[in-house]
Amino acid sequence: MTAEIICVGTEILLGNIVNTNAAYLSERLAALGISVFFETTVGDNPERVEEVIKTGMKRSDILILSGGLGPTKDDLTKEIAAKACGQKLVEDAEAKERLTSYFTSIKRPMTDNNLKQAMVPEDCTVLYNGNGTAPGMVINGPEGRKVVLLPGPPSELIPMFHEQVEPILSKLQPGILYSKVVKIDCLGESYVETQIMDLIDEQSNPTVAPYAKLGEVHLRVTAKADTEEEAKELVMPMVEELRSRFGNKIYTIEEEETLEEVVVKMLKQKKETIAAAESCTGGLLAARLINVPGASNVLNESFITYSNEAKMKYLSVKEETLKEHGAVSEETAREMAEGVLKTSGADIGVGITGLAGPGGETGTKKPGLVYIGVCRGGHTEVKKYDLKGNREKIREVSVCRALTMIRK
Ligand code: ATP
Ligand code: MG
Repeated sequence: MTAEIICVGTEILLGNIVNTNAAYLSERLAALGISVFFETTVGDNPERVEEVIKTGMKRSDILILSGGLGPTKDDLTKEIAAKACGQKLVEDAEAKERLTSYFTSIKRPMTDNNLKQAMVPEDCTVLYNGNGTAPGMVINGPEGRKVVLLPGPPSELIPMFHEQVEPILSKLQPGILYSKVVKIDCLGESYVETQIMDLIDEQSNPTVAPYAKLGEVHLRVTAKADTEEEAKELVMPMVEELRSRFGNKIYTIEEEETLEEVVVKMLKQKKETIAAAESCTGGLLAARLINVPGASNVLNESFITYSNEAKMKYLSVKEETLKEHGAVSEETAREMAEGVLKTSGADIGVGITGLAGPGGETGTKKPGLVYIGVCRGGHTEVKKYDLKGNREKIREVSVCRALTMIRK
């Protein structure tokens, strides 16, 4: 079974928005065991969208389109896809009813162009949209082809694909797929890949696929068999093999579990509390921890100490330390961690200081240089990181590294 992804939107071609839908769809299709051979982005231009769909229909079993399903004039995906499949558009009663009640509920009159969204190709499964107005659809195209149309906004596309399209696609394939994701938080993708090259080379059933995530690497192990039980029996020995290779570098094998959840769970179990002093990350560590329900058991307070004055005032970082070694230094990270531990009375104190860039380099200190200190049980560990990427990435990855150090 082969699929291709077609993203419709001039904004993507202009670089105004990042094509996160393609990344999401690719990852989910791989997890379903469906090979993606092509991925195209095309502007909101009817002739070119038609050309791309027609080409796709010649070479792929499944076409997945994102965008252009809305009520405006430039939203043409559905009309063109229906034409390419040789189908007329007909009104779908439930889609119309949903649209009408939506506009009643927001107390706004429904304009005629909105009704366009209730029109669907004659032979399709309608995917009602719980998060927006435009329904999606799976068109039953010629020669068993499936043409899946999804709305552009990720908040609509993701739940629609996951909840409604995945069950349809997995039924198209004989056998049942079972997969597990092994999440590693402190090694780079290329290193992880070299450690499992033999497994990737030999793979057939199960398959192992690495994915780079911000500050993490995920390995998805997928197998296909007649029953879920049999597929699981193929997957789990591979998961154990990965465990033996990466040990405690793996923080979870649970699909939905995040690094911060693992950290909060661990601290809760140990009945430990944590407080952070953040400079370049400006509260991102605290925010990720507080995202986890029940974080109040482990975090009472946290500090953003961006200036040197704040580091001295709240954390008792010494003026000499800042003068002699600079704010971005091992010594400052250490004093920040120790200072926040003392002032908060928490069991674990974390200090993060770094250069997120762009600019700001002094001497040998370049953007991406980050020091993280973790103080617990009378001992302070400070690690130096040379991170790559833009300001946002450096700040996000710094938080991942801090969470990893806390987890250890
Ligand atoms: P709408 O009803 O909102 O118009 P639509 O299905 O017509 O939905 P588009 O008009 O193509 O979709 O895109 C709407 C918005 O969805 C875009 O402005 C953008 O924010 C987001 N979006 C569209 N395509 C993508 C994509 N490939 N990746 C990420 N976001 C996207
Ligand atoms: Mg639109």
